[in-house]
Amino acid sequence: MQRLADFAISPVYQGKMSNDILEIEVPKEKFANCLDCHFCADANHYRSETKCCDYHPIIPNYMVGAILADETTANAEGRKRALEKIQNKVGITPYGIIPPKNYSHLFKKTRDHFKKGHDDISKEIINQLKCPFSQKGLCTVYSYRGELCPSFHCTSVSGNFGRQFWKTQNKYLSHVERLCAIYFLKKANYPVDKLILKRINPIELKLENDKGELNQLKYDRIWKPIVESPESFYLSCFEMFLSLDQSTFESIIGFEGRILQDQMISQSVAFRNKTIPNFLKYIPGNEFKVQKLFSDAALLDYLKGFDGKKSTNELVRISLMEGTKYHQNIQLMIMNNILQEV
Ligand code: SF4
Ligand code: SF4
Repeated sequence: MQRLADFAISPVYQGKMSNDILEIEVPKEKFANCLDCHFCADANHYRSETKCCDYHPIIPNYMVGAILADETTANAEGRKRALEKIQNKVGITPYGIIPPKNYSHLFKKTRDHFKKGHDDISKEIINQLKCPFSQKGLCTVYSYRGELCPSFHCTSVSGNFGRQFWKTQNKYLSHVERLCAIYFLKKANYPVDKLILKRINPIELKLENDKGELNQLKYDRIWKPIVESPESFYLSCFEMFLSLDQSTFESIIGFEGRILQDQMISQSVAFRNKTIPNFLKYIPGNEFKVQKLFSDAALLDYLKGFDGKKSTNELVRISLMEGTKYHQNIQLMIMNNILQEV
């Protein structure tokens, strides 16, 4: 078991976030070993260079400040990349670093394509979506990852139970980050009428033109109420964040934040207790219980691969590489006695 505070929630939240969250223990995600990523097993796979970091997170203002304030060698590359982004101005807002508009268009297009069940996407396109903080498959801002980044696991060791937990953690971190970023803007006297309260949408914000070039006028307008430079504003936000006590933090995240915390605590129980065994065997006869899934003949072939000899990890890799989603249903098969522990 691992505590969330040790790998899935940034250390900056120590002393701010409730220990009930930081101390939640979850099983090791052994079927999502990022140092031996499934997608890197085949150099031709469209995600072999990006892994799952074909994603650009929104990094809230105080967390950008945390990256800039950390001058250790381990953070040097991430800090350098954040500074380059700030200098370049594209995606630099008082709310934090956001994906460029064109990036968001391309991201949406590829995700819509995946959702329709297509996997025929080129490596060139996916490489255009590589996160600006990813270097040789590793995250250069690892300690400051937020929202989806520490919550994403291509396969959970507890199947749908783990997926549900991580989905809630993603919602919780996104909620925390959005509200804290707004809180610091309010503290910096940003005009309340101009505050964007929902998740920032780069497509709606239109800070660049269709060629991806910065709209200087809009950039100046969005930064006008801030007297400092973006770099020192981000650092000030981090200083304000450091001075928060736990009760102020709790009041910022409010009732919704507390409900999400309670959901994480509740969902962590099944996550711990329903882990998938390392070796499973296909037991025919109960398929009718999940008939919907069996409309696809390829699933049956995949299930027959669970012969008690091939490891679950090996079969997860096969399903991911072939672009199938069956690995997400392993828990369902276990519950319906279609797959049983050897
Ligand atoms: S979560 Fe999965 S896809 Fe992403 S890096 Fe880890 S093993 Fe690879
Ligand atoms: S911030 Fe780090 S973990 Fe998140 S997408 Fe970028 S490289 Fe990957």
